[in-house]
Amino acid sequence: DAGMEQLHSLIRDVADWPKPGIVFKDITPLLADPRGLALAVEMMANPFRGQGIELVVGAESRGFIFGTAIAQALSAGFVPIRKPNKLPRETHQLTYDLEYGQDTLEIHADAIAKGQRVLMVDDLLATGGTMKACCDLIDRLGGEIAGVTVLIELDFLKGRQKLKPYDSVHAVLTY
Ligand code: 5GP
Repeated sequence: DAGMEQLHSLIRDVADWPKPGIVFKDITPLLADPRGLALAVEMMANPFRGQGIELVVGAESRGFIFGTAIAQALSAGFVPIRKPNKLPRETHQLTYDLEYGQDTLEIHADAIAKGQRVLMVDDLLATGGTMKACCDLIDRLGGEIAGVTVLIELDFLKGRQKLKPYDSVHAVLTY
């Protein structure tokens, strides 16, 4: 429909970035467009209205942008997952494999109470490694993952398969 086409038109393909052979989906034109930004947030949040979401969780950095906006749309709070050594208090840490090398993410140990209903947010699902690591952190804290929402899913990388344990994985745009 017209809304989806508008969103598609605001996402720019950047060839050979950050590495040769990779086509990066640049969302900054969408963020800069008042209607595009509002539409993206609405379409990411809508399936989770009335689901008792208490907290939205997003990972540094692009997960913060949509995560906070979606938290407000759902009248929920926001919890950040950060790169190492950014959070001031006791953390849980998780190291996961990338195509080349590893990455580590952290969350405050007391960020989520057992059984709280959580919605996971990121801009883009590629291999699913980042989102799986974030979900593992929430599982470890005892949060209940009510769903995962992303603006863009790169279907051919099969990230969704890594998220099988979770009921509701929603992507607004699929490539
Ligand atoms: P994954 O862990 O699923 O392979 O990669 C997804 C993570 O990397 C997300 O946090 C996302 O922000 C970032 N990412 C990977 N590829 C792209 C891309 O083409 N565009 C954008 N905007 N982010 C990407």
